[in-house]
Amino acid sequence: MTYAINPEWRTHTTFDVNSENDGLEVIIGGWVQQIRDKGKLIFLTIRDQSGLCQVTLHEAETNSNVWKTCKDLTIETVVSIKGVVKADPRSKLGAELTPSSIKVHSLAALKFPIDLTKKKTQMDIDTIFRFRELSIRDPKVSTIMKLKNIIAAEIRTFFKLKGFTEIFTPLILTASTEGGAEQFHIDYFGQPAVLAQSCQFYKQAALACHEKVYGIIPSWRAEKSHTPKHITEFWQVENEIAFATDKEIMQVQEDLIVHVLEQVKKQGAIHLVELNRIISIPKKPFKRISFNKAKSIILDLGIESNPTEDFGATEETALSQAFEEPFFVTQFPSQLRGMYYATDPKNPELTLSLDLIAPEGFGELSSGGQRVFEYEVLKNRTIQKGFDPDNFKWYLRMFKFGMPPHAGYGLGFERLIRWIANLPHIREASMFPRTPEIFQP
Ligand code: ASP
Ligand code: MG
Repeated sequence: MTYAINPEWRTHTTFDVNSENDGLEVIIGGWVQQIRDKGKLIFLTIRDQSGLCQVTLHEAETNSNVWKTCKDLTIETVVSIKGVVKADPRSKLGAELTPSSIKVHSLAALKFPIDLTKKKTQMDIDTIFRFRELSIRDPKVSTIMKLKNIIAAEIRTFFKLKGFTEIFTPLILTASTEGGAEQFHIDYFGQPAVLAQSCQFYKQAALACHEKVYGIIPSWRAEKSHTPKHITEFWQVENEIAFATDKEIMQVQEDLIVHVLEQVKKQGAIHLVELNRIISIPKKPFKRISFNKAKSIILDLGIESNPTEDFGATEETALSQAFEEPFFVTQFPSQLRGMYYATDPKNPELTLSLDLIAPEGFGELSSGGQRVFEYEVLKNRTIQKGFDPDNFKWYLRMFKFGMPPHAGYGLGFERLIRWIANLPHIREASMFPRTPEIFQP
């Protein structure tokens, strides 16, 4: 926990609790996370964004007003406490605070519904997400979000250093970008519209002026999937590169993953310890296996699998568990991929597409590939896929006006967080997740 020296503690210089600060008078502000009332002795655990601090009060040595106030405190009350740092090697935090005054800013209602001390072995998931606006105060959730911050910043750094332009695309659309029916329909001033399934068409349009684009952009899919890797509202690391091929976007993803993991190890070491996660940096190039090969690995594992269907949840998990480092599955059959994926000139039944799969059972991280860039080919693919080209007017139209060959991918941001932080369920990678059941708070 860091202490504020200045009473204006929001604009202060901070320093850590340690024996070096023994004897220093400070003011801290935070939330009462735990109260242990032993009669003539009270221990308070105060939490702020930087961590925890123990405040110890002995009745005999404490000002009676302070003592009385502390006797009436409730969990999650917001306080400022003035006191003196006392180094104490017995304390888990190395030092504690002996208070001389306390200000209660906001006395919390009696029973806080979430157990932040983890005394009970496991709180039930339903309660955690029903009270998510409160359960995000759990230091473990803060740790995950801080890790997420590092990862988001490092994704941006990675692309910036390589000369990419960040794009911001619309989220209210009129057409499906990923095919199929899994869209959320909305009423746009009396006209039908949908929430974006991806920024696919827009990142393609943008590369005709910027050539190398990326973004971390929200997506929605109205799929009632109850797996640990699906949420209905998620963000994608979107990347599209002019004049690139499927091979190059695999290399970009390898470089991106390695960069992010190296930085997480460096900047997020303390968070990884808190999450009990050990990360190793995968070797480049990542393994590449064809879709057919992946199917045969799955069959060899004794798992039922239809060779012409996309991986089901069980198949994908098993395949992912068979690897210790991230890997690519390539050459997906044309009938399994969107209309914008280029087919293999040597075998039109296959696409020049790929998924990046995380190891240890975490499954798919990204999908991408080389794109169709010839107007006639794209129009035919649209029809073949059973869509009416009239619904894709502006999208198809731009291919008549000079589109370069290109490739790209969309990488699930929360999936990346889930894998790196080793989370049992993807909803934990989101501060306020959306699942088929949860859409509030
Ligand atoms: N549109 C993505 C791509 O870049 C894939 C996806 O959203 O599933 O290929
Ligand atoms: Mg995919």
